[in-house]
Amino acid sequence: MTKKILASLVLLLVVVAGVVYATKYNSTGSSSNDKLRVVASYYPLYDFAKNVGKDKVLVSNMTPAGSEPHDYEPSAKALADAQKAPVFVYNGGYMEPWVSGFLHDYKNTPVKASDGIDLLSAEAEDNPAEKVQDPHFWLDPVLAQKIVDNIRDGFSKADPANQDFYAKNASDYKAQLAKLDDDFRSGLSQCKLRTVISSHDAFSYLGKRYNLDIASIAGLSPEEEPSAAKLAELSQLVKDKGINYVFFESLVSPRLADTIASETGAKTLVFDPIEGLSDADQKQGKNYLSVQRENLQNLRTSLACQ
Ligand SMILES: [Zn+2]
Repeated sequence: MTKKILASLVLLLVVVAGVVYATKYNSTGSSSNDKLRVVASYYPLYDFAKNVGKDKVLVSNMTPAGSEPHDYEPSAKALADAQKAPVFVYNGGYMEPWVSGFLHDYKNTPVKASDGIDLLSAEAEDNPAEKVQDPHFWLDPVLAQKIVDNIRDGFSKADPANQDFYAKNASDYKAQLAKLDDDFRSGLSQCKLRTVISSHDAFSYLGKRYNLDIASIAGLSPEEEPSAAKLAELSQLVKDKGINYVFFESLVSPRLADTIASETGAKTLVFDPIEGLSDADQKQGKNYLSVQRENLQNLRTSLACQ
């Protein structure tokens, strides 16, 4: 009789432990800890998610460090693993080629970064007659604050017990983005030039926010290369406006910017669309805010601002 009771107790314990383990596993998507598991499709969304979730989330980036998210395709294994994440953060414009297929099967909490943002339209890569939604809104520090709100709301929905924590972090990070916006506004208020030659067409939102004319060498994605006529037109623009710097970006070859610079006697500088940071940059502590500050410095140099 005692043996039977003991056996029942042991069985009960095993069942209870199993239920506790299963509940924990399902609510966080992680068997090893209590953190909310989050997958972001590419770097800036990953950086924003880490700032909102801090030590209560485990964020992974689907686009490896140093890869260009416009044309990156994750492996089948990475996609299957991301399907299990309780939260998935993605752009919402014409950005990651794999996301629409992924969302078809995704059942947890998707966070569309562009929710509540009016997207600009741009020419499609393969067919200029077709209009697509320009995805580069994270580069505008005002719109970036809206992305942070969307991430906060997704985290609160998936993990309501910590919603006050996410709200506080989001508010702190938005204050830093608001300060960045102030610095761009004042830093670019008195400049000799307003025209920027950028590498690919990534700066329409930033240009609109700070009243800059952006002419880009490549199209909406960096692999969309310009014609010889387009390059000649840009060289003429550099000469006509007295532009002293042509921009290139960290993940793409500076070859075309160098061509225009050597034809016109201009120099080159980095204007980084922050589509991905290398491992070395991340280890050095670089992030969205620090690279935007470098962008501001380089813009001030190129536009001869006071
Ligand atoms: Zn881009």
